[in-house]
Amino acid sequence: MVTTPETSVAARARYEAVIGLEVHVQLLTATKIFCSCSTRFGNPPNTNVCPVCLGLPGALPVLNRKAVEFAALAAMALNCQVNATSIFARKNYFYPDLPKGYQISQYDKPLAEHGAIEIPVQGGAKKIGITRVHLEEDAGKSLHEGFADSVDTTAIDLNRSGVALIEIVSEPDIASPEEAYEYLIRLKEIILYTGVSDCNMEEGSLRCDANVSVRARGQREFGTKTEVKNVNSFRFIREALEYEIERQKGVLESGGQITQETRLYNSNEGKTYNMRSKEQAHDYRYFPEPDLLPLIIDEKRQAEIRRSLPELPEARRKRMVADYGITEYDAQVLTFSKALADQFEAAAKAAKNPKRVANLVQSELMGRLKAKGCEIEQSPISMKGVALSADLVESGVISGKMLKDLYDLSFAREKDFPDVYEEEGRPEQSRDTSALEQTIDEILAAHPRQVEQFRAGKTAVIGFFVGQVMRASKRQANPQLVNELLTRKLGG
Ligand code: ADP
Ligand code: MG
Ligand code: ZN
Repeated sequence: MVTTPETSVAARARYEAVIGLEVHVQLLTATKIFCSCSTRFGNPPNTNVCPVCLGLPGALPVLNRKAVEFAALAAMALNCQVNATSIFARKNYFYPDLPKGYQISQYDKPLAEHGAIEIPVQGGAKKIGITRVHLEEDAGKSLHEGFADSVDTTAIDLNRSGVALIEIVSEPDIASPEEAYEYLIRLKEIILYTGVSDCNMEEGSLRCDANVSVRARGQREFGTKTEVKNVNSFRFIREALEYEIERQKGVLESGGQITQETRLYNSNEGKTYNMRSKEQAHDYRYFPEPDLLPLIIDEKRQAEIRRSLPELPEARRKRMVADYGITEYDAQVLTFSKALADQFEAAAKAAKNPKRVANLVQSELMGRLKAKGCEIEQSPISMKGVALSADLVESGVISGKMLKDLYDLSFAREKDFPDVYEEEGRPEQSRDTSALEQTIDEILAAHPRQVEQFRAGKTAVIGFFVGQVMRASKRQANPQLVNELLTRKLGG
């Protein structure tokens, strides 16, 4: 049967996608999870190593207390239940960057379970379940680069071997690449707020594997999944999923079957490729790690850890909308990072009118930042600076126009608003009305016909006079004041 493009579109619409994500996050502990080696990124290869993380015979792991605390904190932030007892397990496989021949991870008794993240979807929010959060050690890194005499050499850097990781496994609750993207954005934001990781994808501190299958709409059973590994940006994960879903639909539509396999995404081509199939899949032969005791995090310890849980972004946005009378969009921008939100709140609390502070961020700061191509965190004008400028306008010391000019100077000089305000000699908008009144008198005298019109009831003509006065003052006059004076004089 020949399918026209139309029928193939209709046929494809009969399928829906099912997605589950596995995210690895490196914890910001100063030392590794089972030894005291440094976790510093970028040190010369194989300098942050010792018998434990090199996997030398007889070396014994000692669990890093901070790693446990960070992992539990992240799990709590992800609404998980932390298990009082969890068990480390050996996950056995061979790979050149895994010197012991096994990775210490957790298997049937993980650190935490039953969590969820809320993501925004059209017309509301959707809960994506989190199956588990467990602790494990990172592997080393294979460097496939040209070295000295050979271009084909692979070298091993074990600096990363033994760095503390958490793995966050989602339920297969994600229904589209867009939802997967939102989930990752929220997940990263929450982890960043807890401060347990820098989630730097370029440095590999956050890595994601995406599992995806398709099934006929309304079908209960899941289809066979494939796993796309090692994708290094959220955008590429979304693209890889889009490609993979269409590929799977195509296979099913043409009467084929999906093989369970691991695939790699080539972002230049926008396509995924087979890496290994289920037949070559690992049997990890998990068994409890004999060199480590069960991990106990009792209620008392859990309560201690929970105390350092910060207010999380979603809750914070809701509160900020209520506290400062700002819009949800404002709150979204202002919670870009925890540091920024902290700065904003400190500044807004100290300012005369918090809403004006938020408005200035939106109306004056964001556009200039965008034009400069930088994020709000690199803004030359700090939240404190925005607050000062807001107060100056609020109390009528400077005009809106003057504020704009001062912001332009701040950006040109890469200096904060208070510094530029000082440098400019603390400018004030004129409150001496005599000069302004003289200008107005002159303008009224020069336009007797418009004055007649106004007095005959055509009051809209005042706009013409405001324009004339503003032009004469080179836009330095306070428009409100101009309006008042004009009304008085024209009325008289
Ligand atoms: P595996 O043992 O192959 O690693 P898991 O059951 O541990 O599989 O699940 C790994 C991830 O894949 C989880 O995030 C889970 O939600 C997701 N997942 C499981 N089955 C499917 C499926 N049929 N389609 C899409 N995702 C799935
Ligand atoms: Mg898996
Ligand atoms: Zn070590």
